[in-house]
Amino acid sequence: MAIKNIALVAHDNRKKDLIEWVEWNWEVLIGHNLICTGTTGEIVQNTLAKKIGGHKHLSLQRLKSGPLGGDQQLGAKIVDGDVDCIIFFWDPMQPHPHDVDVKALLRIAVLYNLPIACNRSTADFIISSPLLHEKYTPVLKDYSAYINRYAE
Ligand code: PGA
Repeated sequence: MAIKNIALVAHDNRKKDLIEWVEWNWEVLIGHNLICTGTTGEIVQNTLAKKIGGHKHLSLQRLKSGPLGGDQQLGAKIVDGDVDCIIFFWDPMQPHPHDVDVKALLRIAVLYNLPIACNRSTADFIISSPLLHEKYTPVLKDYSAYINRYAE
């Protein structure tokens, strides 16, 4: 049974959706390492703590709040290979001060071929996938020509 590093991020207008989803899937989620942006992490932690009632250790790392750099911290973790999948409920109806960070996070997730759910139905597909419980290494595109473009 593989333990995955699952990132959870939700914009303010989507936090209710994410918490409902977390409540629905808490038994699966507590078996993995969770990484959250600051405010999302606080409410996910409180929600899961109520469910497990202090009987089980919860592995949850809280980064900075998204607009204060949390999305970028998560992006760096992706680059370092420390994230296996991302549940990212971003808000399609409102601009945000950190829109560029949101775009960067989406880009880096695609670049590293990580599963990323931007809505509940995709999150349902990911959480119910047998691959969540197996070792899975995303295939990366070969960028060696790009990396070596100035090599003599
Ligand atoms: P938050 O950040 O979890 O601190 O609200 C989420 C985001 O806006 O990216």
